[in-house]
Amino acid sequence: MLARMGASKDTADARCEAFREELEGLWPLAKGSLCEARKPCNRPGCKACTSGRKHHAYLFTFHKDGRFLCRHVRPEHVAELRKALDNGRELERLLVGQGEELLRELRGRG
Ligand SMILES: [Zn+2]
Repeated sequence: MLARMGASKDTADARCEAFREELEGLWPLAKGSLCEARKPCNRPGCKACTSGRKHHAYLFTFHKDGRFLCRHVRPEHVAELRKALDNGRELERLLVGQGEELLRELRGRG
């Protein structure tokens, strides 16, 4: 009995350790969506605007405290935000896996 409890604690510790290792390198983190839009500027006679091409504009949309929010993203920050969003998806995938593993572990304890 004691040996078995010890074993499940070891399993939990090993799982915790493995999870921490998987978290290493998952930085920066973000959750939401990056959208690209085309917007006109206010420069008179702008070629991009008069041709209809307009200008790239990036928006970061996300939910916070039940509200849907939107922030402008500078073009030079897009790559970093994309990386954070990718990492965020990976983090969610890891979390989902943790739920399954926790149940498996709890059942194993009897
Ligand atoms: Zn313009």
